[in-house]
Amino acid sequence: MFGGESKRGQRRSSLRCVLLCLAVLCLIFGGRLVQSAVRSEQMIALVGGTLIDGNGGVPLKDAVVLIQGNKIVKVGSRNKVKYPKTAKVIDTTGKFILPGLIDMHIHYFDWMGELFLAHGVTTVKDVGNDLLWIETISSEAQQGKVRGPRIFYVGDGLDSPPPARETHVGVDTPQMAQRAVALLRSRGASAIKVREKLTPELLKAITEEAHKLGIPVTGHIRRTDAREAALAGIDGLEHVSGFLQALGLRPREFEPGQNELQTFIADLKAFSQIETAKADELIKLLASRQVALIPTMANWWRIASERREEFAREDAEYAKNPQLAYVPGDVRKQWASSSFYKLKNADDLAQVQAGYKKLQYILMQHYKAGGKVLAASDTFSSVPGLSLQRELMLLVDAGFTPMQAITMATRDNAQFLARGKETGTIVPGKLADIIVLSANPLEDIRDIERVEKVIKDGQEVDTNYHANYSIPTPRPAIKRPVWLEQQLQRSDKSKAGNGQTREAVKSDEPCSSAHAIGQEKEQNHAKASHLHHRCCSCCCRW
Ligand SMILES: [Zn+2]
Repeated sequence: MFGGESKRGQRRSSLRCVLLCLAVLCLIFGGRLVQSAVRSEQMIALVGGTLIDGNGGVPLKDAVVLIQGNKIVKVGSRNKVKYPKTAKVIDTTGKFILPGLIDMHIHYFDWMGELFLAHGVTTVKDVGNDLLWIETISSEAQQGKVRGPRIFYVGDGLDSPPPARETHVGVDTPQMAQRAVALLRSRGASAIKVREKLTPELLKAITEEAHKLGIPVTGHIRRTDAREAALAGIDGLEHVSGFLQALGLRPREFEPGQNELQTFIADLKAFSQIETAKADELIKLLASRQVALIPTMANWWRIASERREEFAREDAEYAKNPQLAYVPGDVRKQWASSSFYKLKNADDLAQVQAGYKKLQYILMQHYKAGGKVLAASDTFSSVPGLSLQRELMLLVDAGFTPMQAITMATRDNAQFLARGKETGTIVPGKLADIIVLSANPLEDIRDIERVEKVIKDGQEVDTNYHANYSIPTPRPAIKRPVWLEQQLQRSDKSKAGNGQTREAVKSDEPCSSAHAIGQEKEQNHAKASHLHHRCCSCCCRW
């Protein structure tokens, strides 16, 4: 009996021990789980700063912005917005709270991520890279494996054959052009970019297909001029390209014997010959068709800006930073010398400066006519992020208010990408991509450089530079045929065989949100516009 009791007692004490152990394990692991859930879901309260929400309205002083998870949950005056004691309070008294900046024209390289973030750029649109690599990097950034901004991308630029650059693909019939659009979309492209040699007929086929799939078309054009492109349904003109051709001031073909740099300078100089009455007429058409102008002045017109010496001095400081030793040597050499942005010939410089004044006029007239002007830097070897901050300064130099420039780099850019419901402004329900500045950019737009804190996707970002910065998937050398060319060849064969090409392409389409652009367009104006594309020249390899 005793023995039995004793056994029962042993069993009981064993059971107690197991329960105790379980309880301890629960406390340890359960506690950790709870703690980690609390940590990631802990509310963040930005308290006391002046809110510039991206909508362009009057700033809200002594504001509170509440963030939960990766979303903004509440925004308002300090005396109206309550938050729990458990919230992490970040005092922003005397500071300025803005949406994370969006750069609409960049060329992503492995080394760029933390530089974008440190300068307050939380979203970029890549306009020329290997499609499969940029798709991978974009996804890795989304998963937090790459410390860098959100990446939207166009993949391969579409041109009439033969493709002039390694990230372009030639399309020679409207059917092939439409297949290319569907294939790009199937790999997550947020926009289509068209190139210099493309014909109006092919452009029309491309815009029709892209708009059907809910994405915009933007172009760095030449053979098709700005007027023809607007009539063919283009949504954005990168570098304000095609404008000179529409006014008969520059040839539609590249001139034999001229290198890329000579063509680039000749184009800039030709802006000085623009007659304002003729420009006004063209602007009226572009604005009425909701074609956005994307001037990328920080790269294309820096040469003519009065700020160029100041920019050169600033770049030289970045070149010396030991924490940026991971930036490729040729890029740091460019920062040290700013050689791209110097013109030796005084007559050339005078003409480029006169051209710059005409460009500023065009941008202001376009805006006054109801057209969109977007903020984009064309970063490929300039300091990522800093180049977009400079674009805002140059927009203010052109005559826009700091508030207008900020709105272009936040709300307007998001809307062009059909992402206006998710990002671009600080309102409840949107992604918590937010920056805090230590000085007022509305008084002096240079203060856009004074980024003190960056929050991306609800997480506070480390804005320091790290000499060992790297990304998991390095940018590969491009091998032809690229994926898109392989698919187009395959489609051609399969079409010859059974006529099932289009269906095959469509069933291969995992991407969603295809209709977002269409919806956003409806909200905006009657027509639509979104997308842009483009690329640069002298400076631009794409
Ligand atoms: Zn470019």
